[in-house]
Amino acid sequence: MQNKISRRAIVKGGLVAGAMIPAFGLFAETASAAGLPPLDPADPTAKALGFVTDATKVDAGANPTYKATQKCSTCAQYLGKAGDASAGCNIFAGHSVPAGGWCKVWAQKPGA
Ligand code: SF4
Repeated sequence: MQNKISRRAIVKGGLVAGAMIPAFGLFAETASAAGLPPLDPADPTAKALGFVTDATKVDAGANPTYKATQKCSTCAQYLGKAGDASAGCNIFAGHSVPAGGWCKVWAQKPGA
């Protein structure tokens, strides 16, 4: 009986495993975003960061750096894809935020 594992088998197994990792990551992110409760604007942290569910309602006087193009879907912290109505946010872990929301932490998503 020969228990040697060929180099070809190792390379083949590594390629299959490597191909599966991004797929598992995609499923995990999609599942977690879908199951997250929406962030309540009355949440103390959300309040402190001026979170609103509708970026068009941002108090521009109180937030002079705000621009009309800023919203969660164009923020670097937003975990959703283009077209998602809501998704997770790195700042508010455990909650989802609407694509059209906004808070003071907004920062331009590269390429958005
Ligand atoms: S950090 Fe970005 S994605 Fe998160 S709530 Fe604020 S603006 Fe939206």
